[in-house]
Amino acid sequence: MNEINTKPTILIVDDTPINIAVLYELLQSDYEIKAATNGEDALEIAKGAEKPDLILLDIEMPGMDGYEVCKELKNSTKTKNIPIIFVTAKNNPEDEEYGFNLGAVDYISKPFFPMIVKVRVKTHIGMKIIRDQLEELSMIDGLTRIPNRRYFDDNYTKNFHDAQREKTSLVILMIDVDHFKKYNDNYGHGQGDDCLIKIATALKNTIKRPTDFVSRYGGEEFVVLLKNIDADGAKNVAHNIINAVNDLKIPHEYSPTSDHVTISVGMALKENDLSQAELLKKADDALYRAKEGGRNKFCE
Ligand code: GH3
Ligand code: MG
Ligand code: MG
Ligand code: MG
Repeated sequence: MNEINTKPTILIVDDTPINIAVLYELLQSDYEIKAATNGEDALEIAKGAEKPDLILLDIEMPGMDGYEVCKELKNSTKTKNIPIIFVTAKNNPEDEEYGFNLGAVDYISKPFFPMIVKVRVKTHIGMKIIRDQLEELSMIDGLTRIPNRRYFDDNYTKNFHDAQREKTSLVILMIDVDHFKKYNDNYGHGQGDDCLIKIATALKNTIKRPTDFVSRYGGEEFVVLLKNIDADGAKNVAHNIINAVNDLKIPHEYSPTSDHVTISVGMALKENDLSQAELLKKADDALYRAKEGGRNKFCE
């Protein structure tokens, strides 16, 4: 995905360097350009950490041809969303149809008119960026602006499988705001919303490692995923998030637990025989015990 203020990136793939040079000249003022002169290099660049936003792909190349490159890119979840435009001297309708069927978004015949290439590239990059933004928006909770349940579900599955494969640890912290119904009933739903925003922000600021994340699980429930951490480390994080919410000192006169808003936390460590659903259930059960045990605390 593109950061704000950086140019979109185009990968140009052609076995004839002069063809790359022509496209480079045409596009370099508006885009970051990467280039490859064969299919293997193209795949390596496309699968790398900084993915291109568009690929201009020659068809006729020695070794792996453009069709094969396209097939492979469309087969991998990592690269299937990168739009591909074939730029080729093959220009009969059957070739064009074949290219579209492989998942290309457009087909430009050589020799091409430079302005046409520019316009088509701009159109397809524009659509790619909007798709990325929609994808990102669909993963963010509208109220608190932290990742939502959908983001959690996707990333929980991915992290769970990674942990399984790499035999690394994984911890779930299930969080629930204490006596929040009373808060809403007495202070109003609007103030309740503000309270949730403050709590979400405090949680987010406490979860600092880039591999860990917090998301809004539902209503007044949040969930934290921690990776590569032992039980003591996870307990520390649980303490820290409880303290962070206490430190907000959001008044709650109607809470039987405290004079301000508090949270309860259930902690669960991944064990070998637990399924994905069972690990969540374990965190939920621990949360229930934290509630029963007086709230404003965590249980494991
Ligand atoms: P406990 O300590 O046992 O968790 O008690 P509780 O009152 O927090 O639990 P309960 O499940 O009875 O109430 C949850 C409340 O959270 C009820 C609901 O109105 C409120 N809530 C859920 N989502 C939102 C929201 O988006 N905004 C606001 N303002 N309130 C919400
Ligand atoms: Mg060629
Ligand atoms: Mg609840
Ligand atoms: Mg609650």
